[in-house]
Amino acid sequence: MNAPNNTRFLAQHYIDGRWVDGALGRTIAVINPATGAHLADVAAGTADDVELAVTSAARAFPAWRQTTGTERARYLRAIVTEVEARRERLAMLQSLNNGKPQEEAHMDVDDVIATFRYYAQLAERLDDATTEEVSVPSAEHRVRIRREPCGVAALIVPWNFPMVTTAWKLAPALAAGCTVVLKPSEITPLPELELASAIASVGMPAGVFNAVTGTGADVGAPLVAHPGVAKVSFTGSTGVGQTVMKTASDTLKGVSLELGGKSSIMVFDDADLDLAVELVEAGGFFNSGQMCSATSRVLVARELAPTLLARLVKRVGQIVVGDPFASGVQMGPLVNRAQLERVRGHIEQGIADGARLITGGGRPAGVPEQGFFIAPTIFANVPSTSALWRDEIFGPVLCFREFDTEQEAVELANDSEYGLVATVVTADEARGERVARALEAGVVWVNAPQLIYPQTSWGGYKRSSIGRELGPFGLAAFQEIKQVLTRRQAN
Ligand code: NAD
Repeated sequence: MNAPNNTRFLAQHYIDGRWVDGALGRTIAVINPATGAHLADVAAGTADDVELAVTSAARAFPAWRQTTGTERARYLRAIVTEVEARRERLAMLQSLNNGKPQEEAHMDVDDVIATFRYYAQLAERLDDATTEEVSVPSAEHRVRIRREPCGVAALIVPWNFPMVTTAWKLAPALAAGCTVVLKPSEITPLPELELASAIASVGMPAGVFNAVTGTGADVGAPLVAHPGVAKVSFTGSTGVGQTVMKTASDTLKGVSLELGGKSSIMVFDDADLDLAVELVEAGGFFNSGQMCSATSRVLVARELAPTLLARLVKRVGQIVVGDPFASGVQMGPLVNRAQLERVRGHIEQGIADGARLITGGGRPAGVPEQGFFIAPTIFANVPSTSALWRDEIFGPVLCFREFDTEQEAVELANDSEYGLVATVVTADEARGERVARALEAGVVWVNAPQLIYPQTSWGGYKRSSIGRELGPFGLAAFQEIKQVLTRRQAN
């Protein structure tokens, strides 16, 4: 689909089964990052809107929690059908508002579909699995463990994978029997509101699903602080995650946090070079490097380093950067001016710290004038004390570094306050296994791209996460455990 000339965007909150303006009538401007053009003004929510949304979710909870898993699965499958029907529009809005190329935008929509489909299955299975008999060493007592929905869940998401980070929370929350208030990123509300409209169209009872748009300070903070919210599931930066956890402690509500990363791809001396180049490129430049899972530290066996670097530089020079709707474009802009300035600042600081700029670093040729573009960038000789090496850059910037031994490679990868993911490229299966075990990371890909199946797990060690999303873990995040111990009646 091409970028539309004339399209109407959803711009209101969705509260208690209705589209409504914000209590104060204020709005936030939404920008197309490829052109800098103004796209829409969406409702800028406040604590008053949060109050209405939480109240509506709390009112809907008692009936929703009583529905069977099979009933909830029917709604989740209806959402799948609705998202499939809107696939092109959702992908168009994803590219338009986030700037990612159409191919990546379609992948995102397909991920949403796969996630809702998977949690529909888990919801169905809940009917048999909600109550589990536990064997205890007493003939007198019968003990059952029940898994119950935890209550109203606040879902707060970032802008880099709009709809995907939402689906990873929303599908399991609804499957578990929670009612929800979603707060999309103020930077990318357009695809999220279209997803909200898809969800609104399947006829769930009013209040089960609510969406309030606005800033972190005006909507996110009151949502986290609200005593009616039982659980906060947050994806975003580590700094804001810390604030969320502190605020949540006032009302002692549960938190799940998916935060930043500074991950490595490790290329061993026996690696298939074509595969290594492909994986380094994707790990660094997919979504313009705006990925929590970016493998921005490239650790390479010393003997392979000159060849790999030369191959990479050649390959990176061929990446087509530009309008996300243009055919053949592989990398779009960064999401906004602030992000562009932040990444530029890191590049300048890296140079000042003594890192060697190998390629990129500036604005690529031939891109739309006002867009927030930056060329794929590679640094070598990056001091391990520099921010370029230690901090999450969240842009298309790779740091290249040699290692001599497997142990050194593992130590370099683990030398981070984050521990989200890692990629290992080696022909030696035993080494792949050994290194995967030694890494402090929540996901390790061995000779494989960054595939994330909804059936598995998502999240990391250290400052990258609290808890896990996806798989049964994602569902458990929205459940309370209740033990029921009954004294057996004497016959
Ligand atoms: P951010 O932390 O600035 O914002 C995330 C969300 O939190 C937004 O909706 C924002 O409005 C809201 N928010 C801001 N302040 C808040 C507050 N005080 N209380 C409650 N909510 C508040 O992050 P971002 O810039 O939107 O996203 C980029 C970050 O997200 C990166 O650090 C990236 O690594 C991380 N991320 C992590 C994962 C993961 O799965 N680990 C996935 C995607 C993105």
